[in-house]
Amino acid sequence: MEEKKFIKNPVVGEPVWKRIIVDSNVPESLSPLRDLSKNLWWVWNTEARELFEIIDAEIWEECAHNPIVLLDQVSYNRFKELERDEMFVAKMNEVNTKFNQYLDERKELAGPGISYFSMEYGLHDSLKIFSGGLGILAGDYLKEASDMKVKLVAVGLLYRYGYFKQNLNLHGEQMAVYDAQQFSKIPVQPALDKNGEWVRVEVQYPGRTLIARVWQTNIGSVKLYLLDADHHENNDADRFVTHHLYGGDNENRLKQEMLLGLGGIQALKKLGVDSDIYHCNEGHAAFIGIQRIANLMAEQKLSYVEAKEVVNASTLFTTHTPVPAGHDSFHKDMFRHYMNFFPEKIGLAWEDFEMLGKARAEEDHFNMSYLASNLSQGINGVSMLHGDVSKAVLKDLFRGYLEEELEIGYVTNGVHYPTWTAQEWKDIHKKYFGEEFPTNQLDFDVWKNIYNVPDYEIWELRKKLRQKLINYIKDRFSDNWIKRSENPKLISEILGKLNPNTLTIGFARRFATYKRAHLLFRDLDRLAKIVNNPDRPVQFIFAGKAHPADKAGQDLIKNIVEVSKRPEFRGKILFVQNYDINLAKMLLQGVDIWMNTPTRPLEASGTSGEKGVMNGTLHFSVLDGWWVEGYQKDAGWALPAERAYDVQDFQDELDAETIYNILEEEVVPAYYGRNQYDIPEKWISFVKNTIANVSPNFTTSRMMRDYQDRYYNPQYERSQRVNADGFKLAKEIAAWKEKIAAKWDEIEVKNIEIIDGIAHTMMMGDKYPVKVSIDLKGLKPEEVGVELLIAESKDDGQERIVDTVELLPEKSEGTSCCYKHTILPDHPGSFSYSFRLYAKHPELPHRQDFRFIKWIS
Ligand SMILES: *Cc1c(COP(=O)(O)O)cnc(C)c1O
Repeated sequence: MEEKKFIKNPVVGEPVWKRIIVDSNVPESLSPLRDLSKNLWWVWNTEARELFEIIDAEIWEECAHNPIVLLDQVSYNRFKELERDEMFVAKMNEVNTKFNQYLDERKELAGPGISYFSMEYGLHDSLKIFSGGLGILAGDYLKEASDMKVKLVAVGLLYRYGYFKQNLNLHGEQMAVYDAQQFSKIPVQPALDKNGEWVRVEVQYPGRTLIARVWQTNIGSVKLYLLDADHHENNDADRFVTHHLYGGDNENRLKQEMLLGLGGIQALKKLGVDSDIYHCNEGHAAFIGIQRIANLMAEQKLSYVEAKEVVNASTLFTTHTPVPAGHDSFHKDMFRHYMNFFPEKIGLAWEDFEMLGKARAEEDHFNMSYLASNLSQGINGVSMLHGDVSKAVLKDLFRGYLEEELEIGYVTNGVHYPTWTAQEWKDIHKKYFGEEFPTNQLDFDVWKNIYNVPDYEIWELRKKLRQKLINYIKDRFSDNWIKRSENPKLISEILGKLNPNTLTIGFARRFATYKRAHLLFRDLDRLAKIVNNPDRPVQFIFAGKAHPADKAGQDLIKNIVEVSKRPEFRGKILFVQNYDINLAKMLLQGVDIWMNTPTRPLEASGTSGEKGVMNGTLHFSVLDGWWVEGYQKDAGWALPAERAYDVQDFQDELDAETIYNILEEEVVPAYYGRNQYDIPEKWISFVKNTIANVSPNFTTSRMMRDYQDRYYNPQYERSQRVNADGFKLAKEIAAWKEKIAAKWDEIEVKNIEIIDGIAHTMMMGDKYPVKVSIDLKGLKPEEVGVELLIAESKDDGQERIVDTVELLPEKSEGTSCCYKHTILPDHPGSFSYSFRLYAKHPELPHRQDFRFIKWIS
C-alpha cells in the first residue's frame, strides 16, 4: 500500500499584539502644546486656537480643529522650525502662562459642590457626544462653570460613534454617516482613582454585569467623566450600549440610562467626589436618585424614607421637553426585566418602587421625568414660558394641586459668551466695555457702552463677518457638491450668485416638524419676489439634521434642497449640510438675521438665537422660548404670541403671511435704507439695542447665577441642615411624614360653618366669619393646614385661584379642633370657593414636597 504523502500544518500560533504608543513628535521645548491640547480651555480662547493654527494651517483645517490630531500629524521638521521661531515660542509661552494662571486661580474653589449629569455634551465638534441643543447647552454650562469658579464635576457617556454626520445626496436625501471615534485622538484620558488605577464601574443587567470604563475630559477646571461600555469583557449587545447617542431602541436607551445614573454615581464614589448638589439635566439620569438612596441606606444606616429625604433635598431636576411624549418612559415589562433587582436594595416592594415613575398605578410605562421629579426638591423648566408648560406636563404627579400652584420654576437657558462671540466683536467689546470684560458681563450696564461705538465701526465688522461666512460656505458647499457629483454648471451658478453684500438670513436647527422650517415656503411666488428684488435682494442659508428615524423631518430637508435648485432660487436659498458647532458659529456670527419659526409653545428655550444676538445678529422669531423674554421693540422682530387658529394649517398660513409682510415692510427697508455714507443707520440702531438690552440676559453667566440663586444655594443651605448631626432633621421629617401618612385618611371634617352669604351674595366691606371643625385623630392642630380657596371662572372656562386664605386653629376639644377665619370681600364679581386640608411642617421646603392634601366636599 502506498503511503499517503501529506504535509502537516505547522503550529503557527496566534498573533500576539503588544501595544506600543509612539507619542507625537512634539519636542520637549514645545511640550506646553501637548498640555494645551488636552484641556478644552483652548476651545474658547482665541489665542490658543491661533497658536494651533500657526503650527500648520492646512492640517488644522483638515483635522477640523483637533489639536491632538494636529500634533500627531505635524512633521518633526516643522516642529524643529517652530522651536527656532522666536515669535511662536513667545506666543506659546504667553498662552501657556495664561492657561496655567487660569487653572491656578481655580485650585481651591468655594461654594457648594455640584455633580451635573447629562446624556450629551456639546463642547467641540471633535468630541462627538452631542446631537443638538440639549448637548450644546450642557457643554456651554461646563465652560461657564469653569470660568465662574464653580465647584462642578459632570458625568456623561462616551459614545464610540456619537451622533451621525449628515451627508445629503443629489436628491436632498439625508444619509447618516457614523464614524467611529478613536479615543486616543480626542481629548479624553483614563480617569484614575487615588491608587492610580483606571476607574471602572459595574452595572447589573439581567443575568450579567456590565462593565464600563471611565474617561476624563478637562474643561478648564471642570472635569467631565464619561462612561464607556465598549469593553471586551461585555457581550456584543452590551458593548453597543454606548455606541450611539439616541441610537438603538428603547431597550438600549434604558440600558444607557442605567449606566448613566447607577454607574455615574458609582464612578463619582470611586473617584472620591462627594458633592452637595446633584443636578439632573433632563430625566435621562434620574436613576442617580435611587442609587444615592441605596448608598445612603447601606453606608449611613438610614431608612428608605430618611434617605429619600436627604436625596430630595440635594437634587435638582431640569426638564427640557414641552410635550409629554418627549419624556423618556419604558414599558413596565421591560422595565421590570432590567430593574427587578433594585427595589430590594432600598427595601421597597416592586409595586412601590414602580410608583416612583408613575402618576397612577394603572399606567403601563415607567416615566423617567416622574422619577426625577419625585426625587428632586427643585424642578425647573428652561424659560419662563416653558416653566409654565412644564407644570402642565407634570401636573398628574401632583394631584390635589392646581397646575398654577405647582412649585416648578424656571431658569432660562443661556450661551457661553467666549465660545460664541466672534473675536472681532470681543475686540470691540474690550475696547468699549473695558479690559475687564467679559469677566464683568453680569453688570448689565457695561453692555450699554455699545452705544458709544461709531456706526461705521459696527457696520464694517458686520460686513467682514458676512464676507467670512460667504467664503466659508463657498468652500464647504463646493466640496460637498463636487463629492456628490452635482452638475458643475449648477455649482458655479449658485456660488456665483451668493453675494456678500446681500441681506442674509440664517435658519438652522434640528429638523423636527414643530420647528416649521417649511413655513417660509408656503407661497413660493411671493418668496421668489422677495429674494429676487433687483435693488434689495435677500438670501437664505439653511442647515440642520433630522433624526434618522424622523421621516417627516428628512422630507422637509429634501423639499428645501429641491426648492433651492429651482432657477428662481439658485444662490438665494441654500442648504448647507452637516450642521455642527463650527458651522453654527460661522452662521450665527455672519448672517444679518436669525430666523426661528416654531409652533408655540414647543420651543422650550432655544439657544441659537442667543448666540446670534451677542454678535449683533438680529433675531426674528415666534414669541416662544427665550424670545418671549428677549424681544424688545426695535431690537429684532416677533410674530405675535397668541394663537389665532386651532387648526395648525390655518395658523401656519397666517404666520407665513406675517413673515412675508415683516420681511417686505420692515426688515428689507431697514437693511437697505442707507445714509450718505452707505450705512444703514436704523439697522445699526437695532444691532446696538440688541447688544445693549437683549444679549446680557442670555449668557450662561446669567444662567449660572440664576441656578445658584434659585436652586443651588438655597438647596445647599437646607441640605446642610437636613444632614447635620447625623441626619437629625432628615430623620425628624421622615418620622413626621410617616406619622401623617398613617393618619391622614382617618381625618374627619365634622362641621363647616359659613355665613349663608358665601354661597349666595356677599356685600363688599362686610365681615363674614368662616369656621371648620375637624377631628384630627391625634394629629396636632399645627400639623394640619386648613385653607379656603377662592376662584374665578376665566374666559376659557377654567377656574383660576384669585385668593387663598388660611384658617387658623382656634380651640381644641379632645382630638377635634376648630379652624377660623374672617372674610372681607373687597372685589365684586362671581366667585367659587372650596376648602382643603394639607399636611403642614415648618421644615418642608415647599408644599409639594409632601403631597398630603384633602379637598373637603
Ligand atoms: C446652538 C446649537 C443648537 C441648538 O439650537 P436651537 O436654537 O436650540 O435649536 C443645535 N445645534 C448646534 C450645532 C448648535 O450650535
